[in-house]
Amino acid sequence: MVQSAVQDRSVQEIVYPDSRQCFLMAEDDPADAELFSGMLSQAFDNRYSVMCVDRFEKIADALDRGSFQALILDMNLPDRSGIENVHTIGQQYPHLPIVVLTGDDESYSAIDSLQSGAQDYLSKNTVTPETLARSVEFAKERKLVEKRLKQALEDAAFRNVQLEAQANHDPLTGLANRAYFQDAAERVLLRAKRKDLRVALLYFDLNGFKKINDSYGHAVGDDLLQQFAERLKSAVRDADFIARIGGDEFVIITDTMQDKEEVYPFIRRLQRQFETGFQLGAHRLRIHPSIGVAFYPDAEDLDLLVKQADCAMYQAKTSSDTTACFYSEHVELQYTRLQKVEQNLRDAIRNNELSAAFQPIVSVTSSKEVQLEALARWHSDLLDEVSPSEFIPIVENSSLLNDIAHSVVGNVAEMYRTALDRGLSVDRVAVNVSAQQLSSANFCQSILEAIQDSDMSPENLTLELTERQSIDNIRTCQSQMEFMRMRGVHIALDDFGSGFSSIGHLLELPLDLLKLDRTLIHKVEDNVRNQALVAGITEMAHRLGIKVIAEGIETEAEMRQSIDLGCDYMQGFLFSKPVPVNEAALYYEMRRH
Ligand code: C2E
Ligand code: MG
Ligand code: MG
Repeated sequence: MVQSAVQDRSVQEIVYPDSRQCFLMAEDDPADAELFSGMLSQAFDNRYSVMCVDRFEKIADALDRGSFQALILDMNLPDRSGIENVHTIGQQYPHLPIVVLTGDDESYSAIDSLQSGAQDYLSKNTVTPETLARSVEFAKERKLVEKRLKQALEDAAFRNVQLEAQANHDPLTGLANRAYFQDAAERVLLRAKRKDLRVALLYFDLNGFKKINDSYGHAVGDDLLQQFAERLKSAVRDADFIARIGGDEFVIITDTMQDKEEVYPFIRRLQRQFETGFQLGAHRLRIHPSIGVAFYPDAEDLDLLVKQADCAMYQAKTSSDTTACFYSEHVELQYTRLQKVEQNLRDAIRNNELSAAFQPIVSVTSSKEVQLEALARWHSDLLDEVSPSEFIPIVENSSLLNDIAHSVVGNVAEMYRTALDRGLSVDRVAVNVSAQQLSSANFCQSILEAIQDSDMSPENLTLELTERQSIDNIRTCQSQMEFMRMRGVHIALDDFGSGFSSIGHLLELPLDLLKLDRTLIHKVEDNVRNQALVAGITEMAHRLGIKVIAEGIETEAEMRQSIDLGCDYMQGFLFSKPVPVNEAALYYEMRRH
């Protein structure tokens, strides 16, 4: 007999089976319901109960309340019939195995049923207990396989998405990587070609990144790259494409900036953002990118566009007064030369091609005081005369800068002896150093060792600190300066009033001298604003016990004005150009008489 078979009773009245084994049968013909339930009981040896409903609308209700092994569904129910029934239930209850039962007169095929979501199909006229039981088991098995298959497909799709993301993105910053950039940029150019648009490529490289990695460790370097990527992301529009294409190299490709005028405000906005510096662990560092910009179709393909933007970036990096540069033919020429300079400089240092020229620094109050600034000189057989303004920025972040400093200090010690031999005792000679050099611990010690074997003593040495790049690690600089001052070395802040010079440094750094940049002194007699600046800075420096040197004096008028404004020392072509030591000695001899 049928266990728990329920017929002609509203579903609400039924006691619903728990998760025990139970089938749900939707069959409006009581005789058929009785028959098929009996078959199931017989086939499964009464291990399963069967619950029957006679309306389509009751199926969902039953399924919501009970737990069933499978649904045996008569396709023709009084309130709703047809293949759609299978589809609706299959959608609503994706884990339920369904066996469809049809009369012979019905035109639904097995295929129709299966395609609509049933797992098996039986004709009422041929069904036996065995075929019904087999069909139900088969439906259950098939549902299980379908479920596993679906899960496997979903997993594979998810893995594909992940793999694709990994292949296209930089894991550190989440930005597109070089390969993806290449693809995306090609598409941007194709679209620009179709629509007759211009495309800007902005190439970024972080100044001093290697140094930060070396001094603070890779974790800090990674943190910086992530923060930098975030700032870039927040600065661009959605349509712009950003990628990290190398260690500290980033690019933006966009058709939303059509020319220089549209790029300028963007760069200014970015630069303002970088003014605030980066908080990296306990350190707050001011780090700026060098930016190179090139345009399509000025560069007719992607390779050239990247090359030109890179070339402009390189130009920006080596230029002392700009952090962004647009590509031009002139830039290209300079780039070629810069590359040659870079390639040859290492050999030049090894072969002692570097020398120093000496420029007198003249005291306003004493004709006896002898001060000189040592300026690196490089005469290359290949490149002729190469100015330090050209080669110093190129090696600013490399170990070559220390080699140059040692070469210059060697020259200085030699000069000191030559001057002595000529009867000229040099009070002080100044050597230019960068903030990075000062903050590396061994540098100062090695400078002191280099003059130890000479006739010079530390009291004869001044270190001129140039703020060509921002002073990142002011604390280390301070302590190194103190270390040198305790040994008698003077410290000067060079080129004040240009580049990154800040009033804050006047207060924070232990200074003896302040050198006013040439741009403040140039035609100062005609420039009321600069007069006010020079007078103000000089007054402030004096109050802090710092002496002031006016740089780049070329005319009598500039000299007179500088003296009137309170400067203590003067330097410039009016007195002497940087010259070999013999000529410098001659200058002071003449000045004495
Ligand atoms: P600086 O230290 O400010 O040196 C002064 C620069 O101005 C020198 O250029 C000098 O020749 C030039 N100058 C001096 N008087 C006048 C003048 O009256 N008119 C004009 N128009 N120019 C004048 P130089 O020798 O080309 O050096 C350029 C810069 O390169 C230096 O600026 C300094 O920052 C850097 N430099 C030179 N030698 C070294 C070095 O050994 N190490 C480092 N780190 N930097 C160096
Ligand atoms: Mg200098
Ligand atoms: Mg200077």
